[in-house]
Amino acid sequence: MIIARTLSDLRDVVNAWRGEDFSHAVVPTMGALHEGHLMLVAAAREKTDRVIATIFVNPKQFAANEDLSRYPRDEEGDLAKLEAAGCDLAYLPAPDEIYPPGFVTSISLGGPAKAGLEDKFRPHFFDGVATVVAKLFIHTAADVAIFGEKDYQQLLVVTQMARDLDLGVEVVGIPTIREEDGLAKSSRNRYLSKHERHQATAIIRALEQAAEKIRGGGDPQTATKAAARSLTTLGFEVDYVSARNAETLAVPVSADEPLRLLAAARLGKTRLIDNIPV
Ligand code: AMP
Repeated sequence: MIIARTLSDLRDVVNAWRGEDFSHAVVPTMGALHEGHLMLVAAAREKTDRVIATIFVNPKQFAANEDLSRYPRDEEGDLAKLEAAGCDLAYLPAPDEIYPPGFVTSISLGGPAKAGLEDKFRPHFFDGVATVVAKLFIHTAADVAIFGEKDYQQLLVVTQMARDLDLGVEVVGIPTIREEDGLAKSSRNRYLSKHERHQATAIIRALEQAAEKIRGGGDPQTATKAAARSLTTLGFEVDYVSARNAETLAVPVSADEPLRLLAAARLGKTRLIDNIPV
């Protein structure tokens, strides 16, 4: 596996691949890789001839009160996992490579980025994500980009941006990889105490119960409110549990729209998110 830390080294490899008519995919990550990330690499391998994984803990998507400095980092472990997963190139740019001194430009987002979900609780988050993802798309010139449904709103935001700005990349979403008990795999799960880790499965259970009620003809609002109440009773601080149109994240207005249930809640100091289709 090739390791590139600068745009110029990355471009040399990508140009060589282009010369051989190889297509390539990019899998953007913030490192601390788990099986969920590696499934994205596996999906990328099926779609294109060559795979780039990027590891960049993006300062622009963390607010001052968030966990940038304590975000887990394990470069050596990550590189070993990527190589074993069949990744061809790992791109690990330094912050200056992405945001050189004097960098001031950002992308103005709408649609799914303003759905009142993550954007409401992390107001700078998607501006940061869109900026770095746009740069990574441009740096890698990838034909395909693979993202997880785990971050469902992010997947829709990035898809919309790539389409609106003609970034020339096909964005593909991959279903969430879970622990045996249903908890969505996340780099942040390691922050959970033993007791919290046990409690954490309540999120997927609450979502599944709500989905069941809706499939049985129940009102989505009522079902998600009940899910939020049950999580609060269990000690979660709930940011939202919401039923949305699966394609736009708008609040549903008719009974035959495709729905997605999305939740975010804090357990102690750890913020967990999850979502499922109805
Ligand atoms: P992160 O490094 O956590 O920002 O995530 C990088 C990519 O991995 C994003 O596209 C995430 O949606 C995806 N991802 C994270 N956790 C999972 C998971 N459990 N299953 C599938 N994809 C995931």
